[in-house]
Amino acid sequence: MSEVARNELPVVVIGGGPVGLAAAAHLLERGLEPLVLEAGEQAGAAIASWGHVRLFSPWRYDIDAAARRLLEPTGWTEPDLDTLPTGHELVDGYLAPLAATPEISSRLRTGTRVLAVARDGADKTRSLGRERRGYRVRTVDAYGRVADVLARAVIDASGTYDTSNPLGVSGLPAAGEVEAAGFVTGPLPDVLGAARDRFAGKHTLVVGMGHSAANTLLSLVELSETAPGTTITWAIRGGSARRLFGGGTDDELPARGLLGTRLREAVDAGRLRLLTRVSIEQLVPRAGSVQVLGTAKDEPLTLDVHAIVNATGFRPDLDMLREVRLDLDPVVEAPSALAPLIDPNQHSCGTVPPHGEQVLSHPDDGFYLVGMKSYGRAPTFLLATGYEQVRSVAAALAGDRAAADAVELNLPATGVCSTDLALDADGESAAGSCCGSAPAEPQLVTLGAGAPAGVGFASGIVHGRSGDREDA
Ligand SMILES: Cc1cc2nc3c(=O)[nH]c(=O)nc-3n(C[C@H](O)[C@H](O)[C@H](O)COP(=O)(O)OP(=O)(O)OC[C@H]3O[C@@H](n4cnc5c(N)ncnc54)[C@H](O)[C@@H]3O)c2cc1C
Repeated sequence: MSEVARNELPVVVIGGGPVGLAAAAHLLERGLEPLVLEAGEQAGAAIASWGHVRLFSPWRYDIDAAARRLLEPTGWTEPDLDTLPTGHELVDGYLAPLAATPEISSRLRTGTRVLAVARDGADKTRSLGRERRGYRVRTVDAYGRVADVLARAVIDASGTYDTSNPLGVSGLPAAGEVEAAGFVTGPLPDVLGAARDRFAGKHTLVVGMGHSAANTLLSLVELSETAPGTTITWAIRGGSARRLFGGGTDDELPARGLLGTRLREAVDAGRLRLLTRVSIEQLVPRAGSVQVLGTAKDEPLTLDVHAIVNATGFRPDLDMLREVRLDLDPVVEAPSALAPLIDPNQHSCGTVPPHGEQVLSHPDDGFYLVGMKSYGRAPTFLLATGYEQVRSVAAALAGDRAAADAVELNLPATGVCSTDLALDADGESAAGSCCGSAPAEPQLVTLGAGAPAGVGFASGIVHGRSGDREDA
């Protein structure tokens, strides 16, 4: 394929979540032709599945600048920028109208899951003329029909929400975990709404130590007030839940502080049972319940529960990228140059230096991981970061090197380093002193050349995902 032919192809964007749609908006502004392939039936399908949960970031940090420029002429009503949307509100008030704009709707294919990406006509080992080739993107639709799409470049914004970490220790599924899948839900079931019957009057085990676990535990506690017999066990891998209990009223984010405080109160009041230093080794499915076998504080553990909520965090689906030459960090599975900035093992509360297209590039030119997936297994991704990423990537694909490199993203010096990987003997985060309760001075940071005037982060805002590493 000649270069001219390659450049006539669309830029395929995998995933119609907030970052994928923002990528499409930025590509359009650059005169490039996007084609967004979304596995779900609607844009923002992943967010819709946790739609009952409220974000930590107010609207002003949830809307991409180029997307706003597409929306404004349509008569779209901008939400109150200082309020915190729920996932459903984010979809209904922003993603759905954006997907419905004529510019995006004609370039969005829902119900289309990407199965694999490869260089067109060249497997991973073939180097000769590789850089001249475009990409072949294999898809399957809701009817099981497989089709290939050719692309000049591929932006993978497919998130990680579909691929939870396993419950078992060592990063591997526990024995019987696959067979017991029917008893296991994702991290944020709608306990008080659509999924109520599954949990009311039942014994639920919640595994994980991030904000998703906290949200679900508190919903279960609320459910237990009206549904007698609702029993809750919470299992974490670390020795203490102090990090998640957070800084209470000292927390930079009031909503997050309240979450931790309420959870601690529920544990103290015996509304739920907290088990620490838990290893899950085996799940034995039975009629109507599942037996959980393992250890807690090195003692044998046996639990009989009706449901398990897996809130142990996510990992990127890399299987579909097997034929692409990627440069990924062996620890967090993020682009190598990005990993040191976000790896919870290494990241010690410093500011996150500017990063854009250069940091996100791979040996195969024209392929990018962006959004939640670009952070691999690291949990601290924020929408505003993703919007800046796709602004820079679109500029680079359009050949505007100066704009692609003019990235300034300066996150405040706290909040993205909490991790159970750095636990001290008490199970407290070794980095806790800077990620804990001390209120930070509000500070404004610039979000690159493409950010609209006046948009910046007050430090508290970007702490929304602090400690949201879900690993137990
Ligand atoms: C409960 C929760 C609360 C959060 N709160 C905040 C917050 O307050 N502030 C903040 O900045 N960030 C927050 N985040 C983090 C992050 O911003 C969100 O996860 C956000 O949804 C990431 O956007 P994304 O576009 O990268 O991925 P997603 O929103 O996950 O979108 C990916 C899309 O790709 C689709 N897809 C997946 N696989 C395929 C495939 N193979 N082919 C085609 N399509 C595919 C999915 O259906 C989905 O629609 C939160 C995350 C969670 C889970």
